[in-house]
Amino acid sequence: METAATQNGVVILGSGLGGYTLARELRKLDANVAITIVTADGGESYSKPMLSAAFAQGKDPTTLVQKSAGQMAADLSATILVRHRVAAIRRDAKAVVLRRPDGGEVELGYGRLVLAIGADPRAYTVEGSEAARIRTVNDLDDYADWRAALGAGGRVLLVGAGLIGSEFANDLVGAGYGITVVDPAPWPLGRLLPQALGEEMARALGAAGVTFHLGRSVARFSAGRAVLDDGTELAFDLALSAIGLVPRIRLAAEAGLKVERGIVVDRTLRTSDPAIFAIGDCAETPAGPLPFVLPLMAEAKTLAATLAGTETELKLPALPVVVKTPALPMAVCPPPPGAAGEWVVEGEGRDRKALFVSPGGKALGFALSGTRVNERQSLAKEMPDLL
Ligand SMILES: Cc1cc2nc3c(=O)[nH]c(=O)nc-3n(C[C@H](O)[C@H](O)[C@H](O)COP(=O)(O)OP(=O)(O)OC[C@H]3O[C@@H](n4cnc5c(N)ncnc54)[C@H](O)[C@@H]3O)c2cc1C
Repeated sequence: METAATQNGVVILGSGLGGYTLARELRKLDANVAITIVTADGGESYSKPMLSAAFAQGKDPTTLVQKSAGQMAADLSATILVRHRVAAIRRDAKAVVLRRPDGGEVELGYGRLVLAIGADPRAYTVEGSEAARIRTVNDLDDYADWRAALGAGGRVLLVGAGLIGSEFANDLVGAGYGITVVDPAPWPLGRLLPQALGEEMARALGAAGVTFHLGRSVARFSAGRAVLDDGTELAFDLALSAIGLVPRIRLAAEAGLKVERGIVVDRTLRTSDPAIFAIGDCAETPAGPLPFVLPLMAEAKTLAATLAGTETELKLPALPVVVKTPALPMAVCPPPPGAAGEWVVEGEGRDRKALFVSPGGKALGFALSGTRVNERQSLAKEMPDLL
């Protein structure tokens, strides 16, 4: 059995923005603590949000890489085990069971363990979906496969017009692909935007060349064809699904940790085991799952302080998300899930401000489009804290 370098050593599972930001913050506070990062992927440091804006930025899967795993290990004075998949957490032995690239298994001991293992794309399963090879893009490896399959041109069917689907639609249409988007919601970003801004987004992406089938679902697939629930047939060369993410909870659940929608953590990012923590897309904080970069950075900073010896609680102001759709810039700061209220929209055409206002008259969230996106930082200060 391999053991972490010191009894107090920190083992981080995952080398995404969560895992690497935590390692960086922890190393700033503690030059000596042993940090081991275990990752199922190649351990490259990259910005995941760039995946849905790569064409616009002139990037490909190679140039998206900021640093190799080797460079990261040197920068962080950390051990990084790439292409090692964690198969189990043995809390009794304070060890994780790793599957090595050669298929063998090895155990790695930990003092403190951090789960930063992200989320899985939700699968779109209807008749024929498996044979149709609907792709998803949620990491650099997926993106490399996707770009290799895309080739020089062709028709792409995008299932899902949420934040990530809309970004991919804009990026791909800008690169010359024929894009058709299907979503059961009546307008893009249906869960984040009021009707007026959603319709403006549909108009802007439509003007850029995207064809929408809104209020519709794919009922079944057959070779290169999708049949919608109203009988419409769409031909495509490649299909990409972006219908949401599901936090990776299996490892935690099998180890007996408390899980609900994500791996449940308290304000110190601790799971139900005091030696195990979770951050990023896999975690469910007291404010719910927060699968975005800004909350993840705050979580990493907070947890680094705790791991370095100063017990610290997570505090989160309202954090707006910028939607990377150059056809119509947009920023959203959704109200708390289930909050009562209604949208009040001001402005005309592309430049609008929408406030989600409670029955008592308090603004709980907002959406901004066009030039009004510039107001997001000042407006966020007026919103209630997330935590
Ligand atoms: C296309 C796209 C665009 C986005 N755009 C934005 C945006 O504009 N703004 C924003 O705020 N957010 C955006 N997001 C969300 C944001 O990127 C994520 O919230 C964030 O990157 C999640 O980081 P993470 O470290 O929690 O998870 P991940 O980056 O998914 O990392 C998970 C890590 O865990 C490893 N792992 C998983 N299981 C195992 C295992 N069993 N054993 C070992 N290792 C394992 C993986 O290999 C990986 O290294 C976007 C997401 C996508 C997909």
